[in-house]
Amino acid sequence: MGEKEIVSVWILGDQLLLRHVALEEAVERVGRENVRVVFIESIERIRQLPYQKKKLVLLLSAMRHYAERLREQGYTIDYIHADSFGEGLKQHVAQHKSQALITMEASEYDTRLWQQNELERMIGVPVTIVRGTQFLVEQYNPIPHPQSGKRYIMEHFYRDMRRHFGILLEGDGSPVGGQWNYDKLNRESLPARFNAPTPPEFEPDAITREVIDLIGENEQGVGSTDDFNLPVTHEQAQAMFDDFLASRLADFGPYEDAMSTRESGLYHSQVSAYVNIGLLDSLEMVLAAEGAYRNGEASINSVEGFVRQVMGWREYMYWQYWQQMPDLRTANSWHGTRKMPLMFWNGRTGMNCISHIAGRVLETGYNNHIERLMVVCNFCLLAGIIPAEVAEWFLCCYFDAYDWVVLPNVVGMGMNSDDGYTATKPYIASANYIHRMS
Ligand SMILES: Cc1cc2nc3c(=O)[nH]c(=O)nc-3n(C[C@H](O)[C@H](O)[C@H](O)COP(=O)(O)OP(=O)(O)OC[C@H]3O[C@@H](n4cnc5c(N)ncnc54)[C@H](O)[C@@H]3O)c2cc1C
Repeated sequence: MGEKEIVSVWILGDQLLLRHVALEEAVERVGRENVRVVFIESIERIRQLPYQKKKLVLLLSAMRHYAERLREQGYTIDYIHADSFGEGLKQHVAQHKSQALITMEASEYDTRLWQQNELERMIGVPVTIVRGTQFLVEQYNPIPHPQSGKRYIMEHFYRDMRRHFGILLEGDGSPVGGQWNYDKLNRESLPARFNAPTPPEFEPDAITREVIDLIGENEQGVGSTDDFNLPVTHEQAQAMFDDFLASRLADFGPYEDAMSTRESGLYHSQVSAYVNIGLLDSLEMVLAAEGAYRNGEASINSVEGFVRQVMGWREYMYWQYWQQMPDLRTANSWHGTRKMPLMFWNGRTGMNCISHIAGRVLETGYNNHIERLMVVCNFCLLAGIIPAEVAEWFLCCYFDAYDWVVLPNVVGMGMNSDDGYTATKPYIASANYIHRMS
């Protein structure tokens, strides 16, 4: 009998899924013992921009923990540090004598194009690119054949998603509580004395400490690795989300659009960074929130508000990204000409809200959505800043920032610079509004 084929699976850093379709396909083809799983820490990718250092620690530590998890399950792991993805994969294929490579399609445009057009030629073995499973819109696309030039609004997209996945519906298919949208109940400002429960913190283990040393010493990014205490495993991310369900979801709705000079987290879930890299599953989050409503633990306006964010906005943004790339990267409907002001990079300004918000994101990597939209983008739109400059600042500063989520949110929604495809009108807030919500 001839030797069995060796098949490699390349897992990208934002695809740390408990159920990974590329792995499943490889195991089915040649059996687990003939599968090689390759991870690449690419210097070129890590240094593409001066990223938030806490994001780099989170991403690399989560990758390393995930690789360990697979090793414990009996997979052969090849964890490579290379100049680029291409160099790393060439090295891997040669060393392991792989006869084929399977990978899941990247969520980011440039990497997906590279997978499709260059990877096979570069490594010299057949490449299979399996469809992504990280987004619900990959399972069900409410607008599979969009008409060129037509605008599709989020609300219809979202209702269709709810209908398809059967979320917050009565037996006859109508929305629970009689309405699809409870935004009117979700615009309260915070009381003078509020006490939002703080999310859990996670002590860095040996793997994370090693990454902290690596990033702290070598990388030129934004912020610092100091006091890193974020989840880096599926279990920790789940604990973070469970804590939200138990202690903050009930107040999520009413204070969803509120701001405070004290903190950014408030009653938000603070889980975007983990769902974006596969440590949490968005449908499971939605079902758990629905469960909290059905068990009487949270009101419909809080739960619907949360479901709208995850199943509506998040999916709609991914859909818009793939509709509009590559033009979205340079879209500039309002003809912005200015560069990103220095105050966003150092937090030093007499403008109180920008000083708080920029200062906090530089330190922690996080702002809530209303701070990102109504303060940062509001200022940048009014000041005529080039949307691509604003997007680059977001990509550098936030710990949950990836191309697919930054471009539609910043260039499309925040800067209203994609001819109104993502948001029909600009979000411009008066000082009065900001004062009222703070
Ligand atoms: C200008 C701008 C830039 C943004 N940049 C990013 C980014 O780089 N990365 C990112 O993940 N989100 C981004 N968002 C969306 C949103 O602000 C963050 O997802 C949210 O603030 C993360 O905090 P949270 O987990 O506490 O969210 P919550 O308020 O608790 O919301 C729950 C979840 O809904 C999802 N969500 C809500 N709104 C959006 C949205 N518009 N797009 C995508 N997902 C959404 C997130 O997964 C989030 O964790 C941006 C929004 C704006 C307006």
